[in-house]
Amino acid sequence: MGKKVGALIKFRGIVQGVGFRPFVYRMAQKYKLKGTVKNSSKGVIIEVDGGLEDVKAFYKHIKENPPVLSVIDESYIEIKKASGFKDFEIVKSEKEEGFTPISPDIATCDDCLREVFDPSDRRYLYPFTNCTNCGPRFTIIEDIPYDRKNTTMHKFPMCDDCRSEYEDPINRRYHAQPNACPVCGPQLILWNSEGKVIEEDPIEGCIRLLEKGKVVAIKGLGGFHLALYPFDDKVVKRLRDRKKRPAKPFALMVRDLSTASNYCNIGKSEEKLLLSRERPIVLLERKSNCAIPPLVAPDTDFLGLMLPYTPLHHILLRKGPEILIMTSANLSEEPLVYRNENALTDLSRIADAYLVNNRDIARPCDDSVTMVVDENSILIRRSRGYVPKAIPIKSKKGSQLIAMGPFEKNTFCLVKDGRAFISHHIGDLGNEKSVEAYISGIEDFLRMFRCEPQAVVCDMHPDYYSTRYGIELSNKMKIPVYNVQHHHAHIASVLAEKGIEEDVIGIAFDGTGFGQDETIWGGEYLIANTESFERYGYFYSVKMPGGEKAIREIDRMAVSYLYESFNSLDIDIPFIKNYDKKRLDLIGKMIINGINSPLTSSCGRLFDAVSALLGLCSVVQYDAQGAIVLEKKAGKMSELEASYDYSINGNNVVDFRPMINNIVCDIKKSVDSSLISRRFHSTIVYATIDICRKIKRERSIKKVVLSGGSFQNRNLTYLLIKYLKREGFDVFINSLVPPNDGGVSLGQAVIGLTKIEKE
Ligand code: ZN
Ligand code: ZN
Ligand code: FE
Repeated sequence: MGKKVGALIKFRGIVQGVGFRPFVYRMAQKYKLKGTVKNSSKGVIIEVDGGLEDVKAFYKHIKENPPVLSVIDESYIEIKKASGFKDFEIVKSEKEEGFTPISPDIATCDDCLREVFDPSDRRYLYPFTNCTNCGPRFTIIEDIPYDRKNTTMHKFPMCDDCRSEYEDPINRRYHAQPNACPVCGPQLILWNSEGKVIEEDPIEGCIRLLEKGKVVAIKGLGGFHLALYPFDDKVVKRLRDRKKRPAKPFALMVRDLSTASNYCNIGKSEEKLLLSRERPIVLLERKSNCAIPPLVAPDTDFLGLMLPYTPLHHILLRKGPEILIMTSANLSEEPLVYRNENALTDLSRIADAYLVNNRDIARPCDDSVTMVVDENSILIRRSRGYVPKAIPIKSKKGSQLIAMGPFEKNTFCLVKDGRAFISHHIGDLGNEKSVEAYISGIEDFLRMFRCEPQAVVCDMHPDYYSTRYGIELSNKMKIPVYNVQHHHAHIASVLAEKGIEEDVIGIAFDGTGFGQDETIWGGEYLIANTESFERYGYFYSVKMPGGEKAIREIDRMAVSYLYESFNSLDIDIPFIKNYDKKRLDLIGKMIINGINSPLTSSCGRLFDAVSALLGLCSVVQYDAQGAIVLEKKAGKMSELEASYDYSINGNNVVDFRPMINNIVCDIKKSVDSSLISRRFHSTIVYATIDICRKIKRERSIKKVVLSGGSFQNRNLTYLLIKYLKREGFDVFINSLVPPNDGGVSLGQAVIGLTKIEKE
């Protein structure tokens, strides 16, 4: 046995509230060390006495295999004289200043799952089972520090058994704040449509109703789902009618991975996402023999699947059907319903029954949505499971600020100490309830993260609610406000994620964003860094007859592109022949006279125009439907087709009018619309590569950044990445935040931070 030494060890990062101290305790036992472990505002501090080799092995073990939920950013060890400890102890925290990061909600772990399905366990079939490694966090926390009394679990005093687990340092429920069991914890209740208790085992009753084709509102982690059986079109149609959601895809929850693979093709990265502790919805390609009826997701070859992430979900899907539609319980664009009392009123016309429980949800949190393109995992919606995990960003002075986010798919973002805290999905700020959720979400985050912003960052659009509220906040707090251009923010969101500081070629393709020239941008080639940008090139701008109306009635965009390309609307194709004469005249006049017809260079509107021109969609029922059906028409593309014509002028304006001419010719020749769609996708890629080559020649920039809602289109994303790489470019796309407007707040934040830290 070697000489006894002492050591001071420190770990920083996500090391609190993740079972780190009990883990250290167990490791100390293993390596026969004496000493202490404690939390401090600077992370975890360990002091030990023991053999030199043991101390080193102990340090290495923790560093290399920490508890699953922890992330070690920094570690430190100093060997010194032994202090003479008699045993190993977890020392109570000093009064902690600052804040400790709050963990996202975590899917049920394997250990807990084993107990839930073990008939001899005291938690057999208990739907609220959890431990230090899993369970609710973000959705139950009411204040910090993260302690049971500061969560919605405070109203459930622990029974003796739970308490002894909670207090035992070597138990895996040591300090598991939501710890509960059937004796002391939350309980399920099944209500009928009027809110009267159905006297039956709640889970069995729920399954019975689902099997009868009923819609059951089920309270989960971050809010209610509407659950129903997917195989009966009558049942699905009824929900579509009640929810006023005629076509938008519904997500599904499926028993396990092998069951999922009966319905969809699942690649390695997709499998990893499905099984991850974040448990997002993953968009997966349907198998050719997939038994899920088209009505569940009529416009696309992809299904949004997720695996169960709470014991309740596991029990339901093992005892009941192996797959269920589980769609967010809300009315069209309103926020998720998450309180028992609101469920009964807000969902009264939708749900036939309610499976509720008496554990309150502190704040709503939608399911997250992801997709994989090539090997890139892309978040489409970043919410449950991911929020409020910080994204590290470069900060010289540790400044604090708040970025208000955009109008659609809103999230907001706080920055503090070089960390960006992006909010859960708030949604479109177009209705009163979303605005309420937005305001209370901001108050909540400011308080929870003890954030005192030195600046407010907003979009440039003067009429966005988020901009107006940002100005209000800046007045109230007497701090400056910065306005950031929408597409600059999109590109900067990638720069923040990847820590890129130099100039890049920023390709921002999306629907709408207020431009510096007060037109609507959306097909943009920027040269950008986190401070400023130059609009190098863009799509030739066309009119949006009727303004906002043309976003929904996408046939207006087709008319606009036709007029721009032919200077007349007397064109012999079905799209024009079938058009209502009076409406066509009216729209034509608006375009010619420029009445209520703002200019746009939007990529999304170009997709809409072609989709309508091919007769695939004329009025969208949900966001991006035109582009989604156009992509489905193309099918999966792995190579470029021959390009249509386009031109690029001296100001780098990419003019797609020649392409519209070509498409009209093809329509006249009855060319298959799937080929037209493939050539259309390809043309955008060719034109973009041309622009990138030109920038590389002129400015020697090799890094290309892709962001914007259009990159939810797999063909566009896949082809652009593939062919840009082939040209020798380094290509970057969002992975930690969505490329759509859900990621804009991060971009705003990093631009704001660069500005204030420069001054
Ligand atoms: Zn667990
Ligand atoms: Zn208990
Ligand atoms: Fe956008």
